[in-house]
Amino acid sequence: MGSVVRPYRRVLVKLSGEALAAPDGYWLHPQTLAELAADVAATVETGIELAIVIGGGNIMRGARMSQAGWIDRPTADSMGMMATVMNSLALETALNAAGVSARTMSAVSMPTICETYARQPALHYLDRGQVVVLAGGTGNPFFTTDTAAVLRAAELRCEAVLKATQVDGVYSSDPKTDPDAKRYDRLTHDEAIQRDLKVMDTAAFALARESRLTVIVGSVHSPSSVRAILNREAASTVVAP
Ligand code: UDP
Repeated sequence: MGSVVRPYRRVLVKLSGEALAAPDGYWLHPQTLAELAADVAATVETGIELAIVIGGGNIMRGARMSQAGWIDRPTADSMGMMATVMNSLALETALNAAGVSARTMSAVSMPTICETYARQPALHYLDRGQVVVLAGGTGNPFFTTDTAAVLRAAELRCEAVLKATQVDGVYSSDPKTDPDAKRYDRLTHDEAIQRDLKVMDTAAFALARESRLTVIVGSVHSPSSVRAILNREAASTVVAP
């Protein structure tokens, strides 16, 4: 009997803020948001529960902004975290318009704008099949939304983090410059570290390794890619213990 690949039950999708930007660079692109929302709707229809962490890099990144010297890193990071809230509200709006019941929960408390993140209610919404959009990163400066994604995935009993990137997986070298670059189908966390492969930022990846969390790297550039990757119809790299 052939082995049946069990579908994922609950996954956290990590999108960079740039995934929402317009081709001309404007920070939000309604059509891109609508396509993403349709992809999420199709994924949820296949029975996969989804939490989503969205970055803020289309608006600002604290580390970069503080480099100029006029603003300190914690303040710039606070602004970065607020950028992720703006993106999350935009995504929540697009998801609701696509017929997906979505709730934004922010690690940075702003109760007049959205619910504050707490683990138990988040688990409850996921159990009910709602999509939880996790805003505000970890709520602390000096971290990135990659770390927030791994942290929340571990807390919310997700089976995997899908890290959406520009390319369809982890390569042996940069596929944009090296025609011999090879895409890995599967890697262990240790192999990724030993081969010095960039899966996500170091702090985030260390936490994924420690919590034995599967990290899927794939591209969400074509429509329906979240659904296709999670249903193993599109290429990706799976990093698992
Ligand atoms: N950020 C933070 N703490 C966190 C997550 C994010 O301070 O836990 C800030 C940080 O300044 C970061 C910005 O929010 O640069 C936007 O997040 P990120 O750079 O991860 O966004 P992405 O690159 O995924 O779009």
